[in-house]
Amino acid sequence: MIPNRSEYLQQQAQQGQKIMGVLPALYPRELLWAFDILPAEIWDPPGDILLANAHLQATICPVVKRSLEFILKDPEVVNSGYLFPHTCDSLQNLATQVKDLIGMPIPVYTFYNPKGSFNKVTSTFYRDILFDFQKALEQANGPLDPDKLKVACELGFKIDSRLLTLQKARMTDHLNLNNREYFQLIRGGEYINPHYYLELLNQVKILDQPLENRHTRLLVSGILPPDNDTLYFLDELKVSIVVDDLLSGSRRLPVTTMDPPADPIEYLTDRFFLLPPCSTKANSLDERLHHLKKLAVEGRIHGVLFNIVKFCEPELFDHRFLVKAFKKLGLPILSLETELQPGLSGQDKTRIEAFIEILDEEALV
Ligand code: SF4
Repeated sequence: MIPNRSEYLQQQAQQGQKIMGVLPALYPRELLWAFDILPAEIWDPPGDILLANAHLQATICPVVKRSLEFILKDPEVVNSGYLFPHTCDSLQNLATQVKDLIGMPIPVYTFYNPKGSFNKVTSTFYRDILFDFQKALEQANGPLDPDKLKVACELGFKIDSRLLTLQKARMTDHLNLNNREYFQLIRGGEYINPHYYLELLNQVKILDQPLENRHTRLLVSGILPPDNDTLYFLDELKVSIVVDDLLSGSRRLPVTTMDPPADPIEYLTDRFFLLPPCSTKANSLDERLHHLKKLAVEGRIHGVLFNIVKFCEPELFDHRFLVKAFKKLGLPILSLETELQPGLSGQDKTRIEAFIEILDEEALV
């Protein structure tokens, strides 16, 4: 039911849809929708790295490497520019390279999210960068229609509300989707037209009664969910990821259902500061831990899987502290490192099996 990403985007481009390539992770998608631009997020494009290595140091994360490779191949589907949110130093450097050194025939935008928690300074700063981004988009796309922005915010609000409902249903076993299906659905929001995406989300059935659950329950934390082979393997082992703390997942969803948007700019500002604590927003570790503990309790999890992108500085910075804190809570941990290549190595397979055995043994005690 979820269309294939590259086929879908090619179709959209052929139909004359304006498409912007958006790098991870936090950006005001509603502003793009209001200009009739479809964001196509670039996280882990498949394929070999052939061109990008010449521009990057060896110790750069694979999200940056793969994204640059994708950009250098000059994909036809991206016709309305690239957007680089300020997620981390590596992406900020990549934005500079693409914009100033490599050069692009289409616009390159940056969006410098404020770091830290909500206060008067950060919220004013956020409103200012929204305004600057709007002005930059107007140069290439004509003046913004305020009514369109209001409609886009209403659509975003509906998508968020539905995703929060599905997330809750997943935690309480009211969703009959396996790991692969669930994350395919969540990641569909990275490239599907938002009207159609909302339709798809609304088609997902929430069960009246919880499933009889004999599965081992995991929380997964990191940038991206494990790759399809790993998710499939977890399904085979009867392990369900019932809670996520992923930058590409729940860290982009407000912690609670918001009021419907009245003023678009106020709504977008409030939404940004209602997102869960995240390593890329420089939230305090205590704040993060408090949030994760709450998720762990609500999801009645048995263990935590850290899916760490190799060389991801923001995540690695928090990882040691979080592992220690979860261990203190008596929750077993497994940390896997990924270079975002497809497939599950024999070594990781063995480590996952051993981890699940520990969880199952502890469940029997
Ligand atoms: S994986 Fe980490 S280092 Fe790489 S772009 Fe994402 S946040 Fe930045």
